[in-house]
Amino acid sequence: MRILLVEDDQRIVDFVQRGLKAEGYTVEVARSGLEAITLGAEGKFQAIILDLGLPDLNGRLVCEHLRNSGVGTPILMLTARDTVQDKVTGLRSGADDYMTKPFAFEELLARIEVLMRRGGAEIKPEIKEFRIADLILNGETHEVRRGEAIIDLTPKEFALLECFMRMPGKVLSRTRILEQVWGYSADPLTNVVDVYIRQLRRKIDDDYDLKLLKTVRGFGYKMDDS
Ligand code: CA
Repeated sequence: MRILLVEDDQRIVDFVQRGLKAEGYTVEVARSGLEAITLGAEGKFQAIILDLGLPDLNGRLVCEHLRNSGVGTPILMLTARDTVQDKVTGLRSGADDYMTKPFAFEELLARIEVLMRRGGAEIKPEIKEFRIADLILNGETHEVRRGEAIIDLTPKEFALLECFMRMPGKVLSRTRILEQVWGYSADPLTNVVDVYIRQLRRKIDDDYDLKLLKTVRGFGYKMDDS
């Protein structure tokens, strides 16, 4: 089960992330409203925990934006203030539930579980196998094949490939790839992404006529079978 945590306060991120991971959830963190909108729109989360106070956009705007673009993922909104007005506007913007900071982790967990049950109709089982043309990545066995050939990848190469295969056709910027595969602590000026892209290409594309991993000049990279 994947949960998107939208919060810029590192202490809360640590606290919630640790707790949810211990419960077996996969947690992705967005630290700004724009990032939340991009990630939330991918529709791969079973719940979104959304802080009201974000550095760029207000959480309410994020919520409205997601709902307007058809994202039905259950949203639990967090706020530092506890006024009826906050609560009402939060719910009106499309949030499903509302919690005031500070909160006990147990309560957060209970509320998230209720929301996910309620949103049950929309929950799709997590996809374990991704395929683009004859390239197959199995997220459970960690096996990668192109046609009949088994391809050996390092864990980072595997994570990089998974990143593309989860979103076929979508252009991913170097920054986005860096964040997803190397985490936020990565130096944005490093050329590690290009180095790994080259390595990955050598393994999955070089021996084949149909090239899957493409450079989109000025934007980043994408993977498709066109
Ligand atoms: Ca905040």
